[in-house]
Amino acid sequence: MLRLPTFEVVQPTALEAALEALAEPDAVAVAGGTDLLPNLKHRLAYPRRLVSLARVEGLARAPEVEADGTLVLRAGATLARVAADRRVRTIAPSLAEAAGRVASPLIRNMATIGGNVNLDTRCRYVNQTAFWRSAIGGCLKSEGQVCHVVPKGRNCVAALSSDTVPVLLSLDARLVQRAAGGRRREIDVASYFHADGTAHLLREPGEITWEIRIPPAVQPRRTAYVKWSVRGSIDFPLVSVALRADLEEDRDDAPVVGWRVVAGVLGSKPRVVKVPPAATGAPLADPAVAEAVAEAVHRQCKPLENVPYEAAYRRKLARVLVRRAVARLGGRDTAR
Ligand SMILES: Cc1cc2nc3c(=O)[nH]c(=O)nc-3n(C[C@H](O)[C@H](O)[C@H](O)COP(=O)(O)OP(=O)(O)OC[C@H]3O[C@@H](n4cnc5c(N)ncnc54)[C@H](O)[C@@H]3O)c2cc1C
Ligand code: SF4
Repeated sequence: MLRLPTFEVVQPTALEAALEALAEPDAVAVAGGTDLLPNLKHRLAYPRRLVSLARVEGLARAPEVEADGTLVLRAGATLARVAADRRVRTIAPSLAEAAGRVASPLIRNMATIGGNVNLDTRCRYVNQTAFWRSAIGGCLKSEGQVCHVVPKGRNCVAALSSDTVPVLLSLDARLVQRAAGGRRREIDVASYFHADGTAHLLREPGEITWEIRIPPAVQPRRTAYVKWSVRGSIDFPLVSVALRADLEEDRDDAPVVGWRVVAGVLGSKPRVVKVPPAATGAPLADPAVAEAVAEAVHRQCKPLENVPYEAAYRRKLARVLVRRAVARLGGRDTAR
């Protein structure tokens, strides 16, 4: 049995009290605890104080749609709620799909969307017990000085493993961040992540994610989320691609006018894939469109050996799964 280290827990109900508690040194926020607590059991951090966000008033409010069509998710909403919510399923179906494919039903009932956005990066050499890690001398993200994935590298390339982050980026979502003293800032999801697996969030000290805002679509669109994991019923993604096709008109057979394609589980930040002109100007059902998007993903996404399963296999799989997903978006059923 793995034990938790010793820490103090505070459970404020007012946002400002939570933010003040988080401003103390060595304080860490905990929401559902489904990522943080296993990491503490693995001795990947030793916070002195956990500040529970579970009772903070307003943080778990149901998703809302504002007058201009912006979909607003509070960070404390559980993934089960996000996946099932009628407004999310209508406005952002790929987000509902990604949220509904995180872990297992039990975990989704505890896990929050804010925790999923702020999820720590993962690596096969670090998400292990301290005893296991001691056999290889640790690494840059734990107790060591080297990276076992890129041995000559000076940066940690642990994988961004959140299912919802690539989707949120594909939908141009923005985060509302709050900190003590009434500080509030908005940042787009694309700018929140950077390429350092030991500190991949551009989160300011003491800050929490309060709200996630998804702007209304400016074009009719179709979206999908591609995920592959070993056990579909519980595992983290090993292939993860969010797809958004903007259409000329709101018909499945309308020409595609633009793409937003974002991949996760490569390095420590999501990768925006540049989609070539060959993937536009024709309907989604045109096999050449699916092929062009899949080829762009294959060319630009080079998985690393930071998570289980051979990187070359995952790269090939991404191409096949993306091609099928685009075909399905166009109403073509293909198992090719
Ligand atoms: C068996 C298992 C399988 C899993 N499978 C998946 C999977 O398939 N896909 C996936 O994406 N995840 C998976 N997870 C990880 C985790 O369950 C989810 O990512 C979940 O959404 C984390 O949310 P949480 O509320 O539990 O976060 P917590 O564990 O409470 O927190 C996670 C991190 O976010 C920070 N945090 C939490 N809320 C906020 C906030 N509002 N503002 C700022 N920082 C915050 C915490 O300080 C912590 O660093 C899995 C976990 C387990 C144990
Ligand atoms: S990518 Fe390298 S430094 Fe980062 S966790 Fe993995 S082995 Fe450690």
